[in-house]
Amino acid sequence: MSDVMIEINGLSKSFGSLEVLRGIDLEVERGEVVCVIGPSGSGKSTLLRCVNLLEEPTAGKVVVDGTDLTDPDTDLDGARRHIGMVFQQFNLFAHLPVLDNLTVAQRKVLGRDKATAEKVARENLERVGLSDKADAMPAQLSGGQQQRVAIARALSMNPQVMLFDEPTSALDPELVGDVLGVMRQLADEGMTMLVVTHEMQFAREVADRVLFMDGGGIVEQGPPADVIGAPKEERTRTFLARVL
Ligand code: ADP
Ligand code: MG
Repeated sequence: MSDVMIEINGLSKSFGSLEVLRGIDLEVERGEVVCVIGPSGSGKSTLLRCVNLLEEPTAGKVVVDGTDLTDPDTDLDGARRHIGMVFQQFNLFAHLPVLDNLTVAQRKVLGRDKATAEKVARENLERVGLSDKADAMPAQLSGGQQQRVAIARALSMNPQVMLFDEPTSALDPELVGDVLGVMRQLADEGMTMLVVTHEMQFAREVADRVLFMDGGGIVEQGPPADVIGAPKEERTRTFLARVL
């Protein structure tokens, strides 16, 4: 078993004539937590979406847990099962209770029977501190609770990697802490995580490595104490001055 969980080589992505990612090289180790920071429009979401091929790269290679997702012969649906993704908008099924939100994909995609899927769902609701909300409807929950349900739903698929795209950006400030707490706990459990975030305190405390992106490239990367605490590049300093 290799120590590398995500391997990205020469990844480029264009939308028409707009070059959004310009030859990204990135390796994420098993169990590593990498936070991606950078201004709006720098390509952070596109990078994340290329990791599970929600966006098809224009060029380059994306290998996750030894499977080359950019190889046309790869079973993409099969590979994606091992990659959990949590978005800014939680995208829960509004017409289904929480428990069913967590069991649908387990049953349809993984073929688990109802009892197994519900057992896994309850375990993961407990993991995010919501074991008492199994029967609630999404609309009855706060934004922070809904985002924790979305995390529990992703975890119920037993992912090897979790991708987070600004998971707290849509939340009222007082609800951010609970979601970050769950993410911190996942990091402590050894989950491999790639997290786009504007929460600099979280990045400082939880990330093993911080990447600063601008203009579709990685401008600077390293331990949070360096990239956030003592950035080398002028563009990083300018960005941090605006967000800190
Ligand atoms: P970030 O997440 O850092 O804000 P994005 O990856 O969302 O940046 O976007 C980077 C650039 O790519 C932006 O200029 C955005 O408008 C453009 N872009 C993103 N997705 C699409 C798309 N599906 N079609 C056209 N342009 C896109
Ligand atoms: Mg984005």
